Amino acid sequence: MPNYPIDKIITDFDETISERDNISTLVHTAADNRGGEKEEFLAAWQEMVQWFLTRYQRVCDAWQDHQHSIVDFLKSFEQLETVSIQRVMTKGFLEGVTREELRAVGRNVVKKPGVDEVLSRLRRDGVAVEILSANWSQTLIEGATEGLYDQIITNNLTYDAEGRSTGDIDLHVVSARDKLREFRERKKNPPNPDKIGNGGVTRTLYIGDSISDFLAILDADLGVLIGQNRIAMQTIERFRLPTQRLQEGTRFDSSRHYQGTILLVDSWKVLDNFLSIAE
Ligand SMILES: [Mg+2]
Repeated sequence: MPNYPIDKIITDFDETISERDNISTLVHTAADNRGGEKEEFLAAWQEMVQWFLTRYQRVCDAWQDHQHSIVDFLKSFEQLETVSIQRVMTKGFLEGVTREELRAVGRNVVKKPGVDEVLSRLRRDGVAVEILSANWSQTLIEGATEGLYDQIITNNLTYDAEGRSTGDIDLHVVSARDKLREFRERKKNPPNPDKIGNGGVTRTLYIGDSISDFLAILDADLGVLIGQNRIAMQTIERFRLPTQRLQEGTRFDSSRHYQGTILLVDSWKVLDNFLSIAE
């Protein structure tokens, strides 16, 4: 049995486990319940997406010449994050779906190559797997990751007496700072108090794909960025964040301190190779 250098992995969901972001999928599921209004509904959604992207880019651009910290940079997105979620709720973009529909959508989510194998094996070998996501539907994530997790920390839609979503979201995790707060909370919690090596400390890996994951990545014992998200790469450059790219053959080195370095991987397979230390 491999001897892993971690006790717990906390992973983002959208574009870390899944290939694509699932926000649009959620809204399209709601649109399918709109009957004759569907086209109008989707046109309004497209407008909302454009509204968000324009403002998001503006927040990014405003930081080109500033010398502030990464925390200040990430904080500057919070107002937009809050306002856009309010808009999604007041405009009813998520209204009228059932849990069963969301679970079915989840089961059809295309996942990144190797993620099922890696997470199943880690769990089988005693590493706890927790999903920490700013997605709007825990049920969708559950549908996509059945058997792969010990716990999910995310948001959820609220439902009426008939079991249809009201359009409101019960919010817990929205911003990068929310993710950091939840991450710190979860890493304090040992997965299995009898099995912790390393003097009772839970050694935790965090993996995500975007700037909303950066604070948790930088706080983790092993912080991993998967993929080549454009804004994530620009942010690394802008703030000169320390990185190390893991290649196929790169192995974990127990004599090294990795906290504060962003480990860049292109796939779950590369991460799996890195973590597997033969007994
Ligand atoms: Mg993501």
